Amino acid sequence: MIAPVYSASPGRYESMDYRRCGRSGIQLPLLSLGLWHNFGSRKPFEDVKSMACYAFDHGICHFDLANNYGPEYGTAEENFGRLMETVFKPYRDELFISSKAGYDMWPGPYGNWGSRKYLMASLDQSLKRMKLDYVDIFYSHRHDPVTPIEETMQALVDIVRQGKALYVGISRYPKEKAEIAYKYLYDHDVPCLLYQDRYNIMDRNPQDQGLIDLAKEEGAGFISFSPLQQGLLTGRYLDGVPSDSRMARNTSLKPDTLTPDLLDALRKLNGIAQRRGQSLAQLSLSWLLTDPRVTSVIIGASSVAQIEDNLKSLTNMSFSEEELAVIDDLFVGKPYSVR
Ligand code: NDP
Repeated sequence: MIAPVYSASPGRYESMDYRRCGRSGIQLPLLSLGLWHNFGSRKPFEDVKSMACYAFDHGICHFDLANNYGPEYGTAEENFGRLMETVFKPYRDELFISSKAGYDMWPGPYGNWGSRKYLMASLDQSLKRMKLDYVDIFYSHRHDPVTPIEETMQALVDIVRQGKALYVGISRYPKEKAEIAYKYLYDHDVPCLLYQDRYNIMDRNPQDQGLIDLAKEEGAGFISFSPLQQGLLTGRYLDGVPSDSRMARNTSLKPDTLTPDLLDALRKLNGIAQRRGQSLAQLSLSWLLTDPRVTSVIIGASSVAQIEDNLKSLTNMSFSEEELAVIDDLFVGKPYSVR
């Protein structure tokens, strides 16, 4: 039997809002979809396709990838390439697709960190896997303390000049390095489009370090990753650790992070969400999006139902002063919060 051809929902842009990315011409959806977990070779391709198409049908036109997403490394990009071939090809100009390099990808001295050699080779590999001529944004995935920052930034500049990326960004750079990166890129006529960092109710680090304000001052957007702290800021763990959850896999989210004190705080936060008529995940996303400096938040998901739940965060984005104060009391400066 021939599989039905995908046709995107005609109403896909009706319920999503878009925010301008710093001083650029680009607007991004309030929610973007990240393919770090759950989109690689260990997930049936039909599930990957259902989630990606559901997202796009609801206005999520930004997909965030990196060379090492999967698991296994590279396979999220391979699956994205299959999506491009099978469903998204007619929609290429409606999609904003990222990739990154900066973490270990292949053995030896040229498969990690921030050298020109690594970044150039990695992007070529990513484009092949994703069946793309160019990505919309390519990031230096983390600051390399050894490679001169000028080398990493010049590689980004040249990648744009070669037409392999339209824009560039940086992720998880310490503030003083981000300042140098912004200046270098600006001086070479390739202004940094986005600064990407983890930011959520449990992890206020980019706010505390001044990284969100810095992005704004520099004319870049700020995009938050792990907005649900990998699932902790959802209902997923309120009554134990489900066997199909990220925590049960014990990779990037360790079971020992879920201390009794954290669980107690999450249950209190869930009480606030219930009083607002929201799920815990919706409250956590709404909280981030009340900040106009946040251009977009990159959600992860393991099912269509989670994306559906998360999209409802867009309908209730205002908090009372009292709610915000209680949330701060629960999570600011606590031992179970992330630093
Ligand atoms: P989240 O904090 O959104 O966590 C996603 C996980 O939360 C899902 O896999 C799921 O867990 C759970 N979840 C999501 N929605 C719901 C819901 N409504 N109800 C219950 N559980 C839910 O994001 P990620 O940590 O996945 O990161 C998002 C993206 O950010 C990545 O894919 C990547 O693109 C980017 N990123 C960038 C990094 C960087 O260094 N620049 C680093 C990390 C991420 P479960 O799987 O258990 O169902």
